Amino acid sequence: MVKIGVIPGDGVGPEVTAQGLAVLELVGGLDGFRYELEEFDLGGERYMATGEVLTDATLARLRSCRAILLGAVGHPGVPPGVLEKGILLKLRFDFQQYINLRPVHLYPGVQTPIRDKGPDDIDMLVVRENNEDLYVGVGGFTRKGTPEEVALQTSVNTRAGVERCVRYAFEQARKRAGAGPFRGLSKADRDAGMTRQVTLVAKTNVLTFAHDLWMRTFEEVGREYPDIKRDYQHVDACCMRMVVSPERFDVIVTTNMFGDIITDLGAVLQGGMGLAASGNLNPEGTAPSMFEPVHGSAPDIAGKGIANPLASVLSVAMMLDHLDVPAAAARIRRAVAQVLAEPGPRTPDLGGKATTAEVGRAVVEALRA
Ligand code: ATP
Ligand code: MG
Repeated sequence: MVKIGVIPGDGVGPEVTAQGLAVLELVGGLDGFRYELEEFDLGGERYMATGEVLTDATLARLRSCRAILLGAVGHPGVPPGVLEKGILLKLRFDFQQYINLRPVHLYPGVQTPIRDKGPDDIDMLVVRENNEDLYVGVGGFTRKGTPEEVALQTSVNTRAGVERCVRYAFEQARKRAGAGPFRGLSKADRDAGMTRQVTLVAKTNVLTFAHDLWMRTFEEVGREYPDIKRDYQHVDACCMRMVVSPERFDVIVTTNMFGDIITDLGAVLQGGMGLAASGNLNPEGTAPSMFEPVHGSAPDIAGKGIANPLASVLSVAMMLDHLDVPAAAARIRRAVAQVLAEPGPRTPDLGGKATTAEVGRAVVEALRA
């Protein structure tokens, strides 16, 4: 029996998570996959009511889960940083979820805002480092509040941390071999036996210490993968190219901060925040991994029942891949693809008038069929 922790959280979090769980229920029992849920009341609502963010006791209970499904945490009344640092980053760091995996995949039937680009052009996998960089909270103020104030925020990059992330990216590229077109590869590359590409996205020309380490590690690890082409893009050029020629990207590996930014851009390419799923992975399974939509609590549409549930549904599929039931994950993705390919219900973010529940029901029906 696999124990799955559920943190519905705030805003649209509980609305979309309910649909993710409805889909999970349908694949439960298939492929011998049996699970039980434990719900955790965490987030801004809880903090406003009790002053509690995440206690050690709750953390211990979460640790006993094999995986966690998160909706979103965020609340307009909570000072910035409290929930991010106290819940999201705390779980990512404590559970050593050192990979943030974000597929950017355009489903047929979904409109990308990039003119003349379609599903064949947009299918990349962003591997974002998730435990280091500017997110570790190293830094401080001197002479705070004075005209001479200095604020420092240090990017921490360790050889071991960079290496495990880069290696994961090359392994993912290998797993993609054989599927889809040869992204970013020239005829000469293919003649040389290359099958896929990994692009390192950094800023080596300015961040000459941190990203020198990234580049050296990328080159060294990459030499162990002669079948995978090594590509490099500065983060600014990468943003431009993701828009102008997204078809040249296959697997991208990048730092915590740059990954945060370029995956919001990626979400837009694939049809919006309502479709973008992610996994915070502890690949070795020494602690639970956590799966969540890329979007936040979306306070502007919360409570209206119109949030797109597909990011949560696709996060459930990523969770099932991680839990070693890839057939169930594939079934969910096929159902989502079917719903999006047909002129069925769409939430307003995709130009429709349907509710969260109606779209969730359409996926459930496609799964049943
Ligand atoms: P948070 O502080 O929790 O991160 P946020 O203010 O950053 O929240 P997001 O949740 O990231 O907001 O949303 C950004 C925009 O995308 C908002 O306009 C929101 O309405 C829209 N959005 C986010 N999630 C969805 C969804 N599931 N369906 C439709 N629109 C969404
Ligand atoms: Mg946000």
